[in-house]
Amino acid sequence: MLTPRQQHCLKGIGIQQWVGRSAGKPALEVVPAVESIGVRTEEITRQDRQEIPVVEAPAPPKLDTWDNITRSIHQCEACELSQNCTQKVPGVGSQQAGLMIIGEGPGHEEDLRGEPFVGRSGQLLDKMLLAIGLSRSQVFITNIVKCRPPNNRDPHSNEVQACESFLQAQIKHIAPRVILAVGRISAHHLLNSTSPVGKLIDQVHQLPGSDIPLKVTYHPAYLLRNPSAKSIVWNDMKILHKMLGL
Ligand code: SF4
Repeated sequence: MLTPRQQHCLKGIGIQQWVGRSAGKPALEVVPAVESIGVRTEEITRQDRQEIPVVEAPAPPKLDTWDNITRSIHQCEACELSQNCTQKVPGVGSQQAGLMIIGEGPGHEEDLRGEPFVGRSGQLLDKMLLAIGLSRSQVFITNIVKCRPPNNRDPHSNEVQACESFLQAQIKHIAPRVILAVGRISAHHLLNSTSPVGKLIDQVHQLPGSDIPLKVTYHPAYLLRNPSAKSIVWNDMKILHKMLGL
C-alpha cells in the first residue's frame, strides 16, 4: 500500500498505480506507464503466471522384501540418530526364527560391530537363550531403533516413530511365534504402555494389532547391575520355553 506521498511522487514522474483485484479490477492490469519504460505487458503477465515448482516429498522406502528392509535401514537418514552413529544395526539371526527378541537400541559396542546385543549384555543374553536350548543364530535379535542414541541415552519418541516402519516390516516378514521385549523402552513402545517393567513381566501380553504373544523381561544390562533379578528372568525363560513349545 503506497503512502499519499509515494502516490504523489509516482504521479509526478508519470507512472500510474497498479490496481489490485480487491479494488474490483484484474490483478494483472498493466498500466500504459509500464510499457512506456520498455517492459512489454505480455512479459509481465507470463512471468507472473509461471508455475511455482513443487518439491516432492521423498518416496517412502520399499519394505516388501528382506533385502529391501535391510537396504533401506542402511540408507536411512529419517532421524538425527543417523548423524552420529558409526553404522546401522538392523539385527542378527534367522529370518525363520520362532522367537524375535527386541531391545531398545544399539550401545557403544553394538554400534562399532554392527550387531545388536554384543559385549557383556550380549553374552548374558546368549546364556539366557542357551538355558532354553536356543542359540543366537536360531532367533532374530533387533532393537526399536537401528542407530545408536548418543551417550546411550533413551531414544526420543520421534526417533522411535521414525524407525517404527522398519521394525514392523521385520516383524511382518519374520512372523515370529513369540516376541520377547527386553527392557523398559522396548516393552513400553511395543505395548504402548507406561507401566513399570516389574509389572509388565507378570503376564503374557499380545503385540497390539496382531495375535503374536509377547513376553517382557529385564534387559541383560539391568541384570548385570542387579544380579538378584536373575531368578525372575530365569522364570521368564521357562515361560518362554513353554510358549515356544520347545
Ligand atoms: Fe533411520 Fe531408524 Fe536410524 Fe533413525 S534410528 S536414522 S529412523 S534407521
